[in-house]
Amino acid sequence: MLRAASLGSASCRPSRLVKQMWGPIQGHAARSERWCGQYCCARKNRNVIRHPLWTGPVSVTGGTRQSPINILQRDTVYDPQLKPLSISYNAASCQYIWNTGYFFQVEFDDAIKGSGISGGPLKNHYRLKQFHFHWGASDESGSEHAVDNHVFPAELHIVHWNSVKYPNFKEAVAGEDGLAVVGVFLKLGAPHQALQKLVDVLPEIKHKVSCAQESAQTDKPNRVEPWSTHKERQQDSRAAVGPFDPSCLLPACQDFWTYEGSLTTPPLAESVTWIIQQRSVEVSPSQLSAFRTLLFSARGEEEEVMVNNYRPLQPLLDRKVRSSSQATRGPKVTAWTGRTGS
Ligand SMILES: [Zn+2]
Repeated sequence: MLRAASLGSASCRPSRLVKQMWGPIQGHAARSERWCGQYCCARKNRNVIRHPLWTGPVSVTGGTRQSPINILQRDTVYDPQLKPLSISYNAASCQYIWNTGYFFQVEFDDAIKGSGISGGPLKNHYRLKQFHFHWGASDESGSEHAVDNHVFPAELHIVHWNSVKYPNFKEAVAGEDGLAVVGVFLKLGAPHQALQKLVDVLPEIKHKVSCAQESAQTDKPNRVEPWSTHKERQQDSRAAVGPFDPSCLLPACQDFWTYEGSLTTPPLAESVTWIIQQRSVEVSPSQLSAFRTLLFSARGEEEEVMVNNYRPLQPLLDRKVRSSSQATRGPKVTAWTGRTGS
């Protein structure tokens, strides 16, 4: 049976890696630390289904717009005011792919103006920062969001920050209207040609950054890329992918749902405008299997397969999900694989 990770005491503090992923933790940090103490340090919980990061209490205290959610199509509201999304990415800004210990992530140079998205529900231009995936141990689960209680084998998140309102990504993470994340469901089908470029380098980033490497950055908290000169990390947790335009991972039809939500990993900041594509994209079973060859664990630690790295569904509360398309019912989302979302 595939096992989710116990990160161990040295690496169960999400703060350093989370800082690397999202910037400084604010607001909800205490909650995520408590999860850590309760779950990922406990050896007896090594066989939990999900990564410990996602198995703790589901809501941030006072949080009213947490993600992911179950999108009930009958309850979505068509909003004719929603503009088409305008997407323009600079493939040359792609920097590298790395194993965060939670998923694999592709980073972009966000100093480049003009590479990002606007339109849709967004009032400003949002600059491309990174993208990553969530997936399951089997094809029956894996996506974070659900549609009509059904989930997909995997979900892509393309993360952008509001470069009009904020000077940098780290400030945008904690700020109002700070982030915009485009979500894409992955379904099983034909091989995805562009995705294969990433799949081909996954063996190079099998392990997450090690505890020692985490400690190595303690003295350099303000460095944007604390790992960049670390030889071992470059060899084992980070790899070059060359120019890459993530728009090649989007479906041809870009009807979307949108709602106000949060990050799905600590610090769970409620700064995200979610833009969920209504059409899914096809990937082959072998491509998805390649995701499951990665490890939550660092080199030298007991190997823990990186699977089920999705957060449980959160309550919608009084939020509304808006649709860019009038035809929200019908065959658009037909690719789920059968598991009923919890
Ligand atoms: Zn995500």
